[in-house]
Amino acid sequence: MCLNCLKVNIHMRKIEIAMPVTGKEEWLAVKEPLMSGWLTQGPKVAEFEQAFAARHEVKHALACTSCTTALHLILVAMGVGPSDEVIVPAFTWVATANVVVYCGATPVFVDVDRTTYNMDPAQVACKVTERTKAIIAVHLFGLCADIDAISEAAPDVPIVEDAACAAGASYKGRPAGTLGVAAAFSFHPRKTITTGEGGMVTCNDNALADKIAMLRSHGASVSEEQRHLGPKPYLLPEFNLLGFNYRMTDLQGAVGLVQLGKLDTFIGERRKWAQYYCRELRGIDWITPPEISDGCGWQAFVCQVDEEKSPLPRNEIMEALQSMGISTRPGTHAVHALGYLREQFSLEDEDYPEAMKCDRFTMAIPLHNRMVEEDFKYVAEAIKHL
Ligand SMILES: *Cc1c(COP(=O)(O)O)cnc(C)c1O
Repeated sequence: MCLNCLKVNIHMRKIEIAMPVTGKEEWLAVKEPLMSGWLTQGPKVAEFEQAFAARHEVKHALACTSCTTALHLILVAMGVGPSDEVIVPAFTWVATANVVVYCGATPVFVDVDRTTYNMDPAQVACKVTERTKAIIAVHLFGLCADIDAISEAAPDVPIVEDAACAAGASYKGRPAGTLGVAAAFSFHPRKTITTGEGGMVTCNDNALADKIAMLRSHGASVSEEQRHLGPKPYLLPEFNLLGFNYRMTDLQGAVGLVQLGKLDTFIGERRKWAQYYCRELRGIDWITPPEISDGCGWQAFVCQVDEEKSPLPRNEIMEALQSMGISTRPGTHAVHALGYLREQFSLEDEDYPEAMKCDRFTMAIPLHNRMVEEDFKYVAEAIKHL
């Protein structure tokens, strides 16, 4: 091996875009349900739900299989169906729009504000029609959408939070998960805390919570745990709703409980390193780091590349960084431009120009809790020397 290769190997780091922090505590936590034999939704899920509700200062938390199914449950419980419209941002994960289509309803897109990556409240009012049943406000990358401005723009339309990225985040001192009629969180490994796959609905409305609890478990009038522990475990429940099986397992509930205990530490570390990145990248004229806002959950650190000033186009910058062992990704998608939705709803790229620019010019750089100081320095130096 030549000296140069050796040098590269010594200095080269491999930094993933995201990596969950799981280990011995999570491993020990799954022992209990495995040894007891209660594997599906049971006492561990209940404990996780209670702790999650307490942390987010909300009355009800209902665990399910993903944020996608959490959103689906909320929309079904709200009665969203064919001929209804649901307003969603044009720059988000594809699931935000797909869940509307699952209900047979039409997603109506709104362009985003490129300084926050969230729905532009100024463009909401003109999208509201008699058919508008809800607005899904996404808290993208952990930054809460401007809920007050959105509800001012559409005072009569209920807001559902897509809080997939926003566990532990807050808006004007109010926790994500309490800002609309209901909220959906994700525990995919790409998010701040994880259960492998997993999601959570939060809401303060008792009737909505009851309905979601039934819909989550085939439409059954009582949960399996209630039935098994109740006086007549041999009697099957009633099924008066068309439900789904979107139950979280107790294995995941046990992991979620451990992860939730680390949430505030994770966010604190992410915030600290986000501030570091902002300081380090400030002097580079072709990159715009995200703004540091109070209450941000920092699920991801997403910058914008100005290709008129950058040494290379965005994709080539991502390739150059990858060759140095640094993973990056586009922030997320302009969902109106994705094949299925574009075809189905006859959408054009130009319809939502800001979302399109976000799609083409955003770049998420690594920010996760397995990274150490040297990793952050390595990333910042690599970008400075491009
Ligand atoms: C990750 C994500 C989802 C989907 O979450 P799953 O738990 O994977 O279903 C939905 N919306 C947004 C904004 C996301 O980032």
